[in-house]
Amino acid sequence: KPITELDETAAAAEAAALRPQLNQWRQDYYDNDAPKVEDDVYDRQYARLVALERAFPALITPDSPTQLVGGAVKAGFTKVPHTIPMLSLGDVFSQAELQEFADRLEQNVDQHVDYNCELKIDGLALSLRYERGVLVQGSTRGNGSVGEDITANIMTIDSIPHELTRPLTIDVRGECYMPKAAFAALNERQEAAGKPIFANPRNAAAGSLRQLDSRVTAERQLSTFMYNVADYEPLTARTQSDLLTEFDELGFTINPDFQVAHSMADVFAYVDHYQNERPDLAYGIDGIVIKANPLPLQRQLGATVKVPRWAIAFKFPPDEQPTLLKDVEWTV
Ligand code: NAD
Repeated sequence: KPITELDETAAAAEAAALRPQLNQWRQDYYDNDAPKVEDDVYDRQYARLVALERAFPALITPDSPTQLVGGAVKAGFTKVPHTIPMLSLGDVFSQAELQEFADRLEQNVDQHVDYNCELKIDGLALSLRYERGVLVQGSTRGNGSVGEDITANIMTIDSIPHELTRPLTIDVRGECYMPKAAFAALNERQEAAGKPIFANPRNAAAGSLRQLDSRVTAERQLSTFMYNVADYEPLTARTQSDLLTEFDELGFTINPDFQVAHSMADVFAYVDHYQNERPDLAYGIDGIVIKANPLPLQRQLGATVKVPRWAIAFKFPPDEQPTLLKDVEWTV
């Protein structure tokens, strides 16, 4: 039923049914690395809850999935507090919504804004802490405020430098992912060994990074693209695009396919281009992310409890071939 035809009681009943369903799916996905439904099924129900809460803001509860980032810390892992939270991203599904996001942002700051366009890598977020240029800790996003200590595991990933080219003390954030070829090879090995196969590279990456035995992580050929920093002060970059270049100089692996867009026409061209390129990339992407390019502007815009106000994800339609097959077992 259209939201406009609902009264508050009907909307409250629908929201009360959606919240536990979505939270259960979130637990399967984030806590157990074992999703029970395809992302677009989750996304549709989530969008419905967002719309209900927008129409009736009194329905927002602290345990609503619209107010929560990620999931719980898995048993056995030491907790790592994130002094600057690791957030999610708002998402849009059409170019019209993307345009609306930019219009609203530019109205808020009363200026034209350039956007850095980046690929939305289908993996899981991680944070790396360097002290005086030396890698000392790695953690997952967890619930945004507290993540899991995965230091021993990240030490086994080739794309992560153990020492930077400058002695910076800095928390760098990015995506850990499993390349498509590594995913196919892993599933072949699993099958040959009579072990359960993984449903998709994201699930395989999450299950491989959140391991209590770092020898397992070491075998899984994970890789990373770094794209964010908790606090940009120690860097010289003052734009998102320069930040990526500086990361590259510091020794991080960045995704080279980023592009500064001076207009929304540039953004839409980027979206179209990578929607076509998607099947040929060596890793999975589930959309693109646009970010206000000036870092001081990002800071000025800030964030809600869940998402930054200076960035948005444009989600691609789901892959043609659903991976969540009935005969796939969800064990890691
Ligand atoms: P998200 O994955 O949609 O977006 C936020 C994340 O994008 C960031 O945390 C970061 O890890 C990642 N990212 C990748 N490339 C990036 C880049 N270049 N710049 C910045 N960030 C980048 O948000 P989320 O809150 O982690 O999860 C929501 C997603 O998880 C939805 O797509 C939803 O479908 C899926 N989900 C699925 C289920 C299920 O049961 N299938 C359950 C819960 C969530």
